Amino acid sequence: MQPFTCPHCGSHAYTIVLSGCSLSNATLHETFQWNEQEQEYASSGTVVADAEELTPQDSEALCAECEKDVTDAVAAYEASLAAPEDAAGA
Ligand SMILES: [Zn+2]
Repeated sequence: MQPFTCPHCGSHAYTIVLSGCSLSNATLHETFQWNEQEQEYASSGTVVADAEELTPQDSEALCAECEKDVTDAVAAYEASLAAPEDAAGA
């Protein structure tokens, strides 16, 4: 299995951003890390761990390294995963 590769910088990490979500019966996680220099806790934000129903109005993908919009590239990558191997070259 091939990882996703950012067409801009070559990174394999990406972030999916879902906006305008309707949530029901969701479990959210927020992690706090101690910042030694600032002498305060920093939160990376709230993460949805589980949801009975999650309906986003919009979704986009951002490269985790260069933060460019890679929505189309991720969609193409996911489509290539869903397609059977022998149909990929068609
Ligand atoms: Zn990138």
